[in-house]
Amino acid sequence: MRKIAILGSTGSIGTQTLEVISRLEDCEVVALSAGRNIKLLEEQIRAFKPAIVAVEREDDAADLKQRVADLPVKVYSGMEGLIEVATYPESDILVTAIVGMLGIRPTIAAIEAGKDIALANKETLVTAGHLIMPMIQKHQVALLPVDSEHSAIFQCLEEEKGNPLFAIWLTASGGPFLGKTRKELENVTLKDALKHPNWSMGKKITIDSATMVNKGLEVMEAKWLFGASLEQIRVLIHPQSVIHSAVEFADGAVKAQLGTPDMRLPIQYALTYPKRRPIPGEHLDFYKMAELTFLKPDEETFRGLYLAKKALQMGGSMPTVLNAANEKAVALFLQEKIGFLTIPEIIEDCMDNIMMVDNPTVEEILETQKKTEDYIESRYVS
Ligand code: NDP
Repeated sequence: MRKIAILGSTGSIGTQTLEVISRLEDCEVVALSAGRNIKLLEEQIRAFKPAIVAVEREDDAADLKQRVADLPVKVYSGMEGLIEVATYPESDILVTAIVGMLGIRPTIAAIEAGKDIALANKETLVTAGHLIMPMIQKHQVALLPVDSEHSAIFQCLEEEKGNPLFAIWLTASGGPFLGKTRKELENVTLKDALKHPNWSMGKKITIDSATMVNKGLEVMEAKWLFGASLEQIRVLIHPQSVIHSAVEFADGAVKAQLGTPDMRLPIQYALTYPKRRPIPGEHLDFYKMAELTFLKPDEETFRGLYLAKKALQMGGSMPTVLNAANEKAVALFLQEKIGFLTIPEIIEDCMDNIMMVDNPTVEEILETQKKTEDYIESRYVS
């Protein structure tokens, strides 16, 4: 029996992970964490019977304790709670489906406790990849990608150990604003930005897809997961989201993984690896596929991708500055306090003004996050 802990069980990836687990006879949920959605967490506790859960706030934990007083579940809160869930002694694997840099500490704690990691929380690898990857080696745990593109690359690299990698073709749908000019982007609304053409995801990543910052974060994620250089990682706009990514070898052979846009596949593969199991629902039908098209990304219009590549090149704490600025700017955009094009403007402003630290420790990463957030507060929030 594979025992599973999930950080962020009430979110888009978290709920899909539970749906996948409910069909897997050899998997069992032992620990869950949520933010503020106590109602859904209570339903999940009743359905999956975890031994421990964690929520963001102490008052919600007290409320939840009362609601589930008839069950033997332990309830924690805050960062301590996230770490309890991440390191729960009975678990084998942690699914990091929490959003943002909040994932760094619990993910590190889980690796140190010898847990395999099914990684959805890309922000952790973007900001602390230089610390995480050596820890994965040291503690001999598995790091299994959940992001569909990285799962595709991972699947293409199976049985290819030692074969020289030439390039990674990282596909991107282009988001809801593909083909728009900067002028046209000036007046887009929050509602427009939340309409992703192919994927249904949490709000933050949906906005990241619209700005193309998400693809920039994924370039960084690919660098750490697959040891590829920036030059080897080629972003390819592919509006149909059928090819989830491809790998090109030194002999010119290209392997790709294709499928319908359904996150349950990469989630399940991370949990059952190296085995494949059936998933109910539609499969890809080549007879119905009219065309597959490809374009180069427009980095002038979608500066998020350009800035992320620049942050990766600069290294040190610059990916943290980019990521922290993006998290804060997206939060302001979601509150309709800033416009869509102000998101990349804020990121660039922070990258120009926050001092960079080489080879940052966890504390320095979190300090950089705080400095970046304070800088944005002082300049953009009245
Ligand atoms: P959601 O916003 O849907 O879910 C986020 C989860 O984190 C929720 O369970 C939320 O709890 C919890 N959470 C938020 N803030 C806190 C907090 N302060 N303390 C504790 N828990 C908190 O996000 P997604 O599922 O879309 O994304 C999760 C991660 O996976 C992100 O890093 C994203 O980039 C990555 N990812 C997502 C994909 C997708 O298809 N959605 C695809 C590939 C990667 P609550 O709702 O209870 O407040």
